[in-house]
Amino acid sequence: MSGRHSKNDLERTADDDVLHDLEDRWEEPSASALRWHKDLDVRELDCDSTPGWDGDREEAERLIAAHATELDDLQERLFADGRTGGGRAVLLMLQGLDTAGKGGIVRHVIGLVDPQGVQHHAFGVPTEEEAKHDYLWRIRRALPKPGYIGVFDRSHNEQVLVVRVEGLEPEETWQKHYDEINAFEAEVAAAGTTIVKIALIVSKDEQKARLAERLERPDKYWKYNPGDLETRAKFADYLDAYQDMLERTSTDVAPWHVVPADKKWFARLAVTELVLSALRALDLGWPPAEFDVEEQKKLLEEN
Ligand code: AMP
Ligand code: MG
Repeated sequence: MSGRHSKNDLERTADDDVLHDLEDRWEEPSASALRWHKDLDVRELDCDSTPGWDGDREEAERLIAAHATELDDLQERLFADGRTGGGRAVLLMLQGLDTAGKGGIVRHVIGLVDPQGVQHHAFGVPTEEEAKHDYLWRIRRALPKPGYIGVFDRSHNEQVLVVRVEGLEPEETWQKHYDEINAFEAEVAAAGTTIVKIALIVSKDEQKARLAERLERPDKYWKYNPGDLETRAKFADYLDAYQDMLERTSTDVAPWHVVPADKKWFARLAVTELVLSALRALDLGWPPAEFDVEEQKKLLEEN
């Protein structure tokens, strides 16, 4: 419901009716339609599908635009809460293979809110400094402070993905990471951070098309990494690792959501809606004044 917080309920407008029609394109709320469940096998996922959504691209874009105001408003409430002693934060964790669209989503979703309230981190191959520490060290340092929306482009989950598939650690070591990840995320959630985990799943064919496009366009060469082809050659192994990650680290406090990513517009809609529903669930008000408003008005009058 857009305008829920800024408008009186009695002042329903034609805009609200249009919005409700668009929201009704979700046959089921995005958070439940996209939530991973034990019968969902990413190796059999139709990456071109739009689970829960029966609208088209144009409607999806209109809904995103219509929700942008509410997203911006809720982000500001979260920020205000953090400024006045609240301990809450939101952490959006994006995981996906090369070309799944993580970067575009970050740009898109962050573009909808005040960038001052966002803490963004992309996690690549650990630097020399990072490699000296436990794998959670760099993650802990990047956690969003109270009041912020944190965005992770890749995360500690790489420890059960690339590390496993590329054999960077012996199996007995990476096998332990699933439980460690769950314990870590439970700790983060208990400290007041809502974790929104999203796996963007692109098909092997669509990945090929996106890599080919990078090779055709000089403005995309910078995104291309010859090493991506080695990763691509292990596509099936990565999907096995993704499936195990979903099965073993989707918990009540930090559930996974699976977003088919062949349609970029759907992935953007899905992530926007999942972040919005996380913010709505915080049910944030505006912090009360910590001063006497009437007295301040009087003083200002006299000044
Ligand atoms: P990109 O997201 O395209 O900048 O690529 C980042 C690269 O860093 C990917 O190939 C990841 O698999 C890799 N990466 C991220 N985290 C780790 C990690 N913990 N260990 C090894 N490689 C990693
Ligand atoms: Mg890359």
